[in-house]
Amino acid sequence: VKLRISFKTWIFISTMLVVLGTLAFVAVFLQRSFQERMLTQVRDSLLVDTALLREIALDRWSGSDSMAETDALADLLGNRLNLRVTLITPDGKVTGDSSVDLADLPALENHADRPEIRTAMEKGWGWSRRYSSTLEYDLIYVARLLGQPDRPLLVLRLAMPLADMASDLDKIRRLILWASLLGGILSLGVAFLVAHQIFRPVNDLTKTALSISSGDLNRRLRRYPDHEIGDLGRAFDRMADHLQEEIEAVTRARDRLEAILRGMVEGVLVTDADGRVTQANLALREMLAPNVNPLGRKPSEIFRNADLIEAFQVVSSGSHHANLEFRTLGKNPKTLEVELAALPGEGSRSGVVAVFHDITERKHVEEMRRDFVANVSHELRTPLAAIRGAVETLLDGALDDKKFNRKFTEVIERHVRRLEDQVMDLLELARLESGEVPPQFEKISAKSLAESALAAVRELASSREVELSGEIPDPAPALKGDRRQLEQAIINLLDNAVKYTEPGGKVVLSVESEGPEVRLSVADNGIGIPTEHQNRIFERFYRVDKDRSREMGGTGLGLAIVKHVVQSHGGRVELESFPGRGTTFRLILPA
Ligand code: ADP
Repeated sequence: VKLRISFKTWIFISTMLVVLGTLAFVAVFLQRSFQERMLTQVRDSLLVDTALLREIALDRWSGSDSMAETDALADLLGNRLNLRVTLITPDGKVTGDSSVDLADLPALENHADRPEIRTAMEKGWGWSRRYSSTLEYDLIYVARLLGQPDRPLLVLRLAMPLADMASDLDKIRRLILWASLLGGILSLGVAFLVAHQIFRPVNDLTKTALSISSGDLNRRLRRYPDHEIGDLGRAFDRMADHLQEEIEAVTRARDRLEAILRGMVEGVLVTDADGRVTQANLALREMLAPNVNPLGRKPSEIFRNADLIEAFQVVSSGSHHANLEFRTLGKNPKTLEVELAALPGEGSRSGVVAVFHDITERKHVEEMRRDFVANVSHELRTPLAAIRGAVETLLDGALDDKKFNRKFTEVIERHVRRLEDQVMDLLELARLESGEVPPQFEKISAKSLAESALAAVRELASSREVELSGEIPDPAPALKGDRRQLEQAIINLLDNAVKYTEPGGKVVLSVESEGPEVRLSVADNGIGIPTEHQNRIFERFYRVDKDRSREMGGTGLGLAIVKHVVQSHGGRVELESFPGRGTTFRLILPA
């Protein structure tokens, strides 16, 4: 775990180290110099004492005095000064000591080697400081030579314990300690205040920056302290203002782009340089399988078409443009035309924008047109071939044959009629589809409509021995529409009903009023339409039984016309049919 030390702690620690270091240095230095000073003072005063004592000793001491006398002198001097006085012969023998009994003197060891004695013998005076293991504290010794260095008489030595000095030093040390403690606390307090002054604004700055980065673009610092951090804060707020403006502009641009993409009929898909989808509009999602979310995926995960996937790769890796056409899989296959273009970017790969046009309808229309032309040609060819055959037979000699020339002319007439019917129906259909002649809406009585349609097929019905009747209520409902077109539609239905019903059958045209609708039904008890053909018979040229239709003079366009008429009137056709039992067509029109 990496330890993170805050800046504040750093300041504390460093301040503390500096303060404590300085105090320790000062303490040691002060103590040392105090100690030295005191020692010098004690030594100098002892030295003055020895100078005085020398005069006294030289007065009282004859030079040959016995050890008893010398010791008495040492005791005298020592008592006066309240110090330990020792008298030593030049050869180091102790001859008098104020704190040692006369009887014990001879047992004392030779003092000639003591440093203060040796120096005194050489220079006239000497001193030394030693720890006394018997007394357990430091002692200072000062020695002075009586007589001249070439004629030494006696060495006088003073000893003084340094216990007082030690306790004085202790006091000083304690003083320094307290001072250090106080100084330390004060300086830490100051450090804390300074840190607080700096860190409160720095903390505010950090908090503001975090809020802005997590989306609250309106957050600002607004309070600026009167120092450099304040300048930083002001600069920060200016930067945030600028950032907010930029972000808002970018957001507006993005929203606009999204609105455009949303409104487009074309599907739009955008990939980045990694080939992952970053944008896909609603139209595109609808073109794809509905529950696939393309965002973040690659084209190869979304599409099943190898050409398309390759096109994405080709455009992404340098080619500027590609387009292709493909069919989607699934229940409702669509034909899509795709335009791919590279998006400018850095690196060797670029993003791709692909626009998908749904051309299913266009394809379908094209296909229908092709089929229609083929169908028409095929339909027209049959009667033309028959006419040509008859004409050729006539020219080959049948013209002069009384028995045959009439028969062949009749054949020609029948097929010409058929051609005429087909052309008429085609023209009618073309007119309806083009919408060039819009329906002429007028108020029509359902009764007159039904009666004129029935009249038009009466002759055909009686020739085929089919019973034709109408069930029209009184009063009959009225409806709005184009009389000619509606009559044509009903005639087509009645015509079919008569044609596809065996002699002896029945065809009924009935009119009903159902709320806002008028229903016109044509029911027969004829051959019926097998279920599998029922939803195709409204297509042009579609017939259940081609030969029978042709035999009956059908064009295959009748129901296509019906459907068109009904649709342009805002209505619908319903069909109910059972093979062998009959068929009912129902036109449902708004009243
Ligand atoms: P056609 O000119 O061949 O009658 P239509 O478009 O009017 O063409 O009808 C298409 C096909 O629908 C007919 O060929 C026929 O097979 C079938 N059909 C139409 N009406 C009936 C009906 N009342 N009974 C049985 N079959 C019908």
